[in-house]
Amino acid sequence: MSFTVIRRFGTDVEANLALGLLRTNGIEAHLNDEHLVSDAPGFAGMLGGIKLVVPADREIEARALLDEYVAIDEDTLAAADDSQVEIMLREAGALLTGHFKLTSGRHSDAYVEKIRLINQPQMVVKLCAMLAARMRHIESDVVVGPAMGGIVLAYEVAKALGRRFVFSQRFDGRMGVRSGFPLKQGNRAIIIEDITTTGGSIVEVIDCLRERGVEVAGVGLIVDRSGGAIDFDVPTFALLSLDIQSWEPSDCPLCASKQPITKPGSSDK
Ligand SMILES: [Zn+2]
Repeated sequence: MSFTVIRRFGTDVEANLALGLLRTNGIEAHLNDEHLVSDAPGFAGMLGGIKLVVPADREIEARALLDEYVAIDEDTLAAADDSQVEIMLREAGALLTGHFKLTSGRHSDAYVEKIRLINQPQMVVKLCAMLAARMRHIESDVVVGPAMGGIVLAYEVAKALGRRFVFSQRFDGRMGVRSGFPLKQGNRAIIIEDITTTGGSIVEVIDCLRERGVEVAGVGLIVDRSGGAIDFDVPTFALLSLDIQSWEPSDCPLCASKQPITKPGSSDK
């Protein structure tokens, strides 16, 4: 009997999930290099990952099962609600509760640490899969992310949606896109950003795309700190919508109750 490799995985968890799915459906699948990869995850790439192997005559059926599984999984991700996202972000240290002095000088009882939204690749993949699942119905050619935080996220959403990826950046303070990116008049773009409060930088990206004749088809955010108050005039999706309270120091109830204050990591703009 001949066998064929139908998928490669970076972790044994994913590999075993897929293996279990095929075996449950009566396909005699097995894994190659599982122990080599799980003992030395750093070498997973060099070894070509953990290989899922099936009898050649069951290949089409096995591939269909895996594709269906991914589709179901994406529906589950799309259905994840704010509370699940909130738990993930709290565990990652991206969403903090306490008594904070903001850059504006105002005080607040909650703080979003932007860096923590993107410093754990596994979580980035999951968050972006959720966002991609919610935005899959939007017809688009390209996913655009403003530097810096938006780059990683837009790339990952583009990968999940099978679209092209572009990032925007400031040139002498003005938002733009490098000329090397193939953006054509009539392209439809989705914009992805980590977090927005006033929506200012997203509006700049929308304007710079429209100037190039690119139609903005949607905006996706990990955290909307305006509590849904921002209207970009295009369909907008936020994984977590927060209405964070802030006060002038003289009106701060946390100061009144003498809670120690912290100045969280500055947002190096
Ligand atoms: Zn205070």
